[in-house]
Amino acid sequence: MKVGVLALQGAFSRHATLLDRVGVTPVEVRTPGQLADVDALVMPGGESTTMSMLLEISGLREPLADRLAGGMPVLGTCAGLILLARNVADGRSDQRSFGVIDIDVRRNGYGRQLDSFEADLDVAGFDLPFHGVFIRAPVVERVGGEVEVLARVDGLAVFCRQGPVTVAAFHPELTGDTRLHERFVEAL
Ligand code: GLN
Repeated sequence: MKVGVLALQGAFSRHATLLDRVGVTPVEVRTPGQLADVDALVMPGGESTTMSMLLEISGLREPLADRLAGGMPVLGTCAGLILLARNVADGRSDQRSFGVIDIDVRRNGYGRQLDSFEADLDVAGFDLPFHGVFIRAPVVERVGGEVEVLARVDGLAVFCRQGPVTVAAFHPELTGDTRLHERFVEAL
């Protein structure tokens, strides 16, 4: 099983390390040809405005939209979550999202004081808490009826799934805990 990691910008390399540890072959994806070769994709954290622009320049926007429409499993974290969301507030006007999970998000929505923070998350299906690292994270402001919320912080959804689309507002690749990647890969 080959799992791509979108490698245009941002925190992609540690995702690849964790995917390797949970037994799949990680493939860095920068071109349509590389995308065509993977069974699933991780869209990492970073800067969603830049990634949105690089998706156009690389020619990946359309083929990725097609794969997502075709039900390719995808895990989006932080900026990746923003790029997969239905509606994005406080984005740049030319930033585009794929709209494949029915959530509305606000970029950098935790505000200045909580710019970056960490929290132990009770995740549905995990026996022990998962340590979540939030870095200029998006706030999920609305969750559609078809979306399953797998973890919350102060009542706000931070980990969600809708069919093949899983999103986390935090960076699950930073702590060395492989459970989240394991769960993603097990469902493939
Ligand atoms: N604030 C970033 C954005 O808007 C996301 C931050 C992150 O991915 N850690 O894209």
